[in-house]
Amino acid sequence: MVLRVAPEIMAKLKILEFPDPRLRKKAVPVESVNDELRTLIGDMFETMYDAPGIGLAATQVDVHKRLLVADVSPDKSEPHALINPVIVEKDGVTVTDEGCLSVPGYYEEVERAEQIRVRFLDRDGEEREMEATGLLAVCIQHEMDHLEGKLFVDYLSEAKRQRIRKKLEKERRHTAVVM
Ligand code: ZN
Repeated sequence: MVLRVAPEIMAKLKILEFPDPRLRKKAVPVESVNDELRTLIGDMFETMYDAPGIGLAATQVDVHKRLLVADVSPDKSEPHALINPVIVEKDGVTVTDEGCLSVPGYYEEVERAEQIRVRFLDRDGEEREMEATGLLAVCIQHEMDHLEGKLFVDYLSEAKRQRIRKKLEKERRHTAVVM
């Protein structure tokens, strides 16, 4: 049996794009892990998988709370939702060609810790800690930057960032007149 999902249950959220000033807002801590927040988490996973991306911060969907979702598995089998994440340990250095759903089409090398230990609340509001290495560690650091209003292009030179900004603005003007 197949159930048809009503379109209103599928809440794909709009992703803000650089240089939207709302991407620069600093997120505030989540005070209560409730059903409303769990709905938002579900919508963020759906938006991320649909994009497709491997991580999404609440900031990117214009919700300025300290919340991120990530899944670096190839088959959507390892979803992580981190509420009020704090990195308590980091180790090593790794360089990754990063992209971002808020900076579509651009990939640049960014240096980050190779391994992290992160403390957070899970969907039930329970405090947890997890160790992440490799791509998951990079992804969590990238998404945590969003919560601070920071983007991966901030690691690049001013000239490079301006070039990306101008190109994206130009592309957006073009798509605005497509009918
Ligand atoms: Zn991003």
